[in-house]
Amino acid sequence: MERIPVAGPWITQREVDYVADAARTAWYDQAASYNDRFEQAFAAYLGVRFAVTLPSCTSAIHLALLALGVGPGDEVIVPDITWIATAAPVNYVGATPVFADIDQRTWCLSADSFEACITPRTKAVIPVHLYGGVADMDRINSIAARHGIAVIEDAAEAIGALYHGRRAGSLGDCGVFSFHGSKTLTTGEGGMLVTNQQQLWERVQVLRDHGRKPGDRMFFNSEVAFKYKMSALQAALGLAQLERIDELVRRKREIFRWYEEALAGISGIELNCESRDTLNSYWMVTIVGESHSTWRKEELMESLAAAGIDSRPFFHPLSSIPAYRDRQCAALARRRNVVSYRISPCGVNLPSGFNLTKDLVQHIAAQCRSFFGRQSFRAESSQQAA
Ligand SMILES: *Cc1c(COP(=O)(O)O)cnc(C)c1O
Repeated sequence: MERIPVAGPWITQREVDYVADAARTAWYDQAASYNDRFEQAFAAYLGVRFAVTLPSCTSAIHLALLALGVGPGDEVIVPDITWIATAAPVNYVGATPVFADIDQRTWCLSADSFEACITPRTKAVIPVHLYGGVADMDRINSIAARHGIAVIEDAAEAIGALYHGRRAGSLGDCGVFSFHGSKTLTTGEGGMLVTNQQQLWERVQVLRDHGRKPGDRMFFNSEVAFKYKMSALQAALGLAQLERIDELVRRKREIFRWYEEALAGISGIELNCESRDTLNSYWMVTIVGESHSTWRKEELMESLAAAGIDSRPFFHPLSSIPAYRDRQCAALARRRNVVSYRISPCGVNLPSGFNLTKDLVQHIAAQCRSFFGRQSFRAESSQQAA
């Protein structure tokens, strides 16, 4: 291996066999067979009534917003710390994203900040289960219910995570997942929308197929809509991965334990937290500096890169990046979101791909240890100089 990549899947003969079978058989009257099986198995795994295969999680969020009737003039609350895919679909439908702060332990949407951001225009909230951890869904759901706000759970990074014994993604009005190549369960590119609400499910089916009801044979479109479908080959890959989901999540948790052990004793850093009554599915093992850290994520990333180790920056606050920073919604967020702006500058995602071994994790941890050793030397010498 030339470099240690930051993420990557675990593909076995089962996946290869299912995709080959789909290539041979998923045509004619069998065209939807793998999509149906993947959807049914996914709904059963999540403990929900309905699941819809889609080309991406971004399209799932887009459809969720449309199906919930979110449009121009509406506001949708999202955490400032997330991948841009959580917020961009809010703009697609002509609504305005409002960036709320995150909780300092879970790094997920802060329920208090969510509540403080609510206005009469708030139509929906999209809590994100960051890096495999789970947002405080009981509080978020009860605040949302009190204000009549719809909840779309962005569980793109958290398949397999649990909250009070229930699956992340099954706790809101609907949940969305990503099967991008970097995610725990992959179809290369792909997504899923899940819900217990029949009306929402039916609306999504029409919206994702150019305004056609499932089974329409007359090609008589009822409205101008979208074309968001997952191919049978992707669904076959996803079904095979889903049949191995316990093994995939177990390995993610094992990788986290390897890091936890190998990084033990380094002062001034924290790793992903697992709150009480939750199970973290540890999509990405993440190092964050404590409040008075002076090191910056770029420095740790550079030092790892020099040793052939790829890493990723902790998400930049959306209100700080060029895509959003000049908008009115960003200026308020920059003043409000103290936790996001404190944590993001010293947070790094460490390699968390399925090709890691305990030896590689120890090698990565040793590089981190020597980086933090140099940092504390730097801090001490500047103290002595002062
Ligand atoms: C990956 C990701 C998405 C987007 O998934 P795509 O399948 O690439 O559209 C959305 N939200 C979060 C939090 C993600 O990590």
